[in-house]
Amino acid sequence: MPTYSYIAEDPENACPSCRRGFDLRRPMGRPALTHCPLCRRPVKKLITGFAVPKLTQKVSMSDAKKAGFTILEKRCDGSYEKL
Ligand SMILES: [Zn+2]
Repeated sequence: MPTYSYIAEDPENACPSCRRGFDLRRPMGRPALTHCPLCRRPVKKLITGFAVPKLTQKVSMSDAKKAGFTILEKRCDGSYEKL
């Protein structure tokens, strides 16, 4: 099953779960989640892990950036920083 990552659109008013972001497994064919299941606030999808082909070689961060990937690093305060 694909795993999707969601994060609150408005972290100030979100519950602790979606403020930090959460992963959710959903069966294929289900519509994307638009609201946090806990606090019902709007959430946005971060990464679609399923759509990324499995890589046999480890890709370095700089290679990924060169290839046009956006790398998100989860910081300790729970927000995502674009590198
Ligand atoms: Zn929430």
